[in-house]
This record gives sequence, C-alpha cells and structure tokens, in this order.
Amino acid sequence: MDWQKEDLKYIWHPCSQMKDYEELPPIIIKSGQGVHLTDIDGKDYIDIVSSWWCNLLGHCNLKINKAITDQLNTLEHVIFANFSHTPAIKLCQRLADVVPAGLTKFNFSDNGSAAVECSLKMAFQYCYQTGNTEKTKFMCLSDGYHGETIGALSVGTLDLYAKIYKPMLMDTIRIDAPDCFRCPYGKCRDDCECECFKKAEEAFEKHGKETAGMIIEPLLQGSAGMRIYPPLYLKKLRALCDEYGVILIADEIATGFGRTGKMFAFDHAGVSPDIMCISKGLTGGYMPMAITITTDKIYNAFYSDYNEGKAFMHSHTYSGNPLGCSAALAVLDILNEDKIIEKADKTAVYLHGALQDALGTHKNVGEIRHIGLINAIELCEDTITKKGFDTKLRVGYSIYKKALEHGLILRPLGNVLYFNPPLIIEKNDIDHAIKKCVQSIHEILD
Ligand SMILES: *Cc1c(COP(=O)(O)O)cnc(C)c1O
Repeated sequence: MDWQKEDLKYIWHPCSQMKDYEELPPIIIKSGQGVHLTDIDGKDYIDIVSSWWCNLLGHCNLKINKAITDQLNTLEHVIFANFSHTPAIKLCQRLADVVPAGLTKFNFSDNGSAAVECSLKMAFQYCYQTGNTEKTKFMCLSDGYHGETIGALSVGTLDLYAKIYKPMLMDTIRIDAPDCFRCPYGKCRDDCECECFKKAEEAFEKHGKETAGMIIEPLLQGSAGMRIYPPLYLKKLRALCDEYGVILIADEIATGFGRTGKMFAFDHAGVSPDIMCISKGLTGGYMPMAITITTDKIYNAFYSDYNEGKAFMHSHTYSGNPLGCSAALAVLDILNEDKIIEKADKTAVYLHGALQDALGTHKNVGEIRHIGLINAIELCEDTITKKGFDTKLRVGYSIYKKALEHGLILRPLGNVLYFNPPLIIEKNDIDHAIKKCVQSIHEILD
C-alpha cells in the first residue's frame, strides 16, 4: 500500500497548503520513543518541536502509558454535568497546589482554543453579572496567537491566520506587543523598564472602561516567532488591569508546565492572572484536554438560584475526560518525582550555549533568544539592519525540508527556526539536533 498516496486521497492536513504536499508528501510515523519518532520506512527523526509543543516528557512514556491503560480498563468517559470521577477531582487537587495563587476553580474542555473561548465568555458574563454591562470588549497584543476558533481568532492578531475571516470576527482593541529583538526604544530585554508598556497605558486610558478582559501569552509570543519579553511587563499589566477593573487572562497553553523554566510563565512575575488557560503540556501531549482556571471571585458571580439565570451554560461533550485526567496526573507525578523542571534548567544552559557556539556568529542569525528550553533562531537577510528575509522566499521552509532529510523536525515560524524539545531531552540528542540544524542552514544559506 502506498500510504502517502492514500493519505493525500483523504486527509486535509492542518495549517498546510495541500499543494506543498506534492513535493513534500506527508511523513507517515509509525512509532515514538523519547524525543525520537520513526517512520514506516524505519527512518528516525528528532522531534525538536515536541509534536507542536505538546509532548512534554517524550513519546511513549511508560508511566503515562500505564496511567491511561489502567484508566481505560476502568472508565473511558462519563457525562461531566452532575457526574464526576476521582481522576478529575485528584487532578484539580494537585493543580491547585501548583497554579498561581488565587486560581481555585477548574472548567474543563478539550483543546486550547476551546479553553480560550471559555475564558472570553467567562470574563464577559462576569462583567455582565456584576453590573458592568458597558464592559463588552477585549484587549490583546499585536502578533498574539490564541487558537483558531472564531473567538480565539478575534483576540489573535496574526494576519496569516485571521485576515480572511475579519468580517466574521469581533472587534478587539490591539496593543502593540513588546518587540525586544527590534525594540523601537533601543533597549534590551534583560535590563529595560518596559518602555513599550506605555502603549498599554494609552490603550487602557482610552478603552479600559469598555473592556471586559485582556488576554496575553505571558513572556512568550509563540506563533509570532517565539518572541520573548520580560516578566516586568506582566507585573505592570496586572496593576493596570486592577486599576481599570479589567480581567487579566493568561493564555499559558504554550508556556505552562515548565516550558519557560518555571511551572507557569506567570511564576516569573510573581503575580496571578484572574483566568488562566492551559492545554498542550497538560497531558504530556497524549490526550486532547484543556482547562480554564479562575478565582473564587469570578466563580461566585455565577453562583445563584437557578432561576436568576446566572449559570455558565458552557459545555463540551468531552469535558473532564478521565483518560486525559489520568494522563495529566501521571505528568504531574513525573514532573515531581523525577525533578524534571530542575533538570531541564541545567539542560537549558547547555542547549543555549551549544546553539550559540554553533550559530551565534552566522551571517544570517540575528539573534538566538531563549527561555527555558525554548530557543529561537531569528534568520535575517542582514543582521546589522535586522532586515528579515522576504517571506515569499520561504527560507525557513526550505531549511525545514532539508532538516527533514537529515532526520530533524524543525518546523519553523516564517524565518524563525526554533527548538522547543520535550523537557527530558539529553545532551547527545541536543548535539545531534544542533548538528543537523547547522548542516541544513549551511546547505540552504551558504
Ligand atoms: C496552541 C495554542 C493555542 C490553541 O490550542 P489548540 O489546542 O491548538 O486549539 C492557544 N494559545 C496558545 C498560546 C497556543 O500555543
């Protein structure tokens, strides 16, 4: 059987121009182990992008496998309205101890975009039910990404995903995001005072009154090209949201579970959001699950006699799926018992050092920015002026295709190549990945 041909006969792949598959047919993966994937012809790939950022602890982790199989043989799923199960309860008990202070109530869904939709509706309804009916708008940062459904796209600002759908989207207030690589104030992210925050102050002054919530990707704007900005920005934003009674929504879908070196990105800032969305790493990349977590204060605004009509009438069929909860419990066990985040801290120093040594002085590498194990290589046509390559040249994509030949999955964001590996990656795989990456860059650019 020609599986690639059969695939293309039926499958419309996500986020792809399907015509590209004529030249680069889908790679049919048979198995995974740790940071490695193997295709049906036996070729090995290093999964340096954690299978779209969700694989947290490697593929085919025996502890997670066992947790899911045990659960599978007990209860696969049950309606979550009026019914519950111990995996969900235990998971919330455990998460309550590790999420930023004050987040106490857990609303389950099954993907990141759904968790974002839930957060927007929750914030809107909270304002409505606390007498702030003028607060109907949302604020977000430019170049932000929060998922692909209509609400999530509305607070997303990347034209690549949202432009066509503009007539379908709600009107949002956009604030220029920090752009530390090309800082318009000539500052450096390591020691600046977030001069760019004045854009947020201006927006709040103008629109704060009519704004229900502000959603943000804390410290790392992932889809924008792994753009990294300082924790001070979050601190300032917390204070500004308090001043204007705006609900602060943290989209920790990409940053949660140790990706930035701490359990959650907000932990770097020492402040808490009012609502937090988590998904991706939550189940270690095993099961589709997401949670929107909020405070007692917000929860209580929905708590009333039924006929008052204040309930949050939001649901997903697969809310609280027991297989997902069991996987997530296993993930928390492993993070804890194997001291994964502490160990990843050390690996991160090695990874960044090695990448910097290998590519830091390359004529087309503008910057190698990093947070936790995430390292982003910004390719520029000219590193002095920081002029990017014309996106039509698809330089990143060409390097991606080369890297695939060499057995490295380096799926880029435009002209930004990045490493966002499972937290358990070890030095020898890092060395191999860097070698393959460097070779691919040389073959395309030199
Ligand atoms: C991936 C992602 C989402 C969307 O999650 P899906 O599960 O793909 O719907 C939202 N926000 C951020 C920051 C993400 O990285």
